[in-house]
Amino acid sequence: MVCSLCECIPDSHDHLFFGCSFARGVWDRLKDLACIDLSTPNIYDIIGSLLPIVKKRTSKSVCAKLVVAATAYFIWQERNWRLFKKGKRSTDQLVECVKASVRLKLLSCKLKKSSDGERMARLWDLPEAIFI
Ligand SMILES: [Zn+2]
Repeated sequence: MVCSLCECIPDSHDHLFFGCSFARGVWDRLKDLACIDLSTPNIYDIIGSLLPIVKKRTSKSVCAKLVVAATAYFIWQERNWRLFKKGKRSTDQLVECVKASVRLKLLSCKLKKSSDGERMARLWDLPEAIFI
């Protein structure tokens, strides 16, 4: 079975999330918003970046976890939509879905008014009311 995103390579988890040119385009457009290094996205590097911060409740760790989870979810959703002929979205459209989903989650958070918190608020266009 061929990958439904790039329609070139056999379908596999490794290819779908990190090897696929479509998925890499999504990760690439989110790397500046993720708060962790996503320059060469693969499961081992992402886990390596998340492990030291996974239990922390800093703005950086919350942002990183939300971006990774939302990106993986929307890539998987896009694969299934294409596979079951429900539609086809562009990389830009998928990136907007991830950004909207993460921003919505961030709006339900309260951030400390630290340099990291203020940086994240600027990156994600969060209102001043987000700060404790
Ligand atoms: Zn592919």
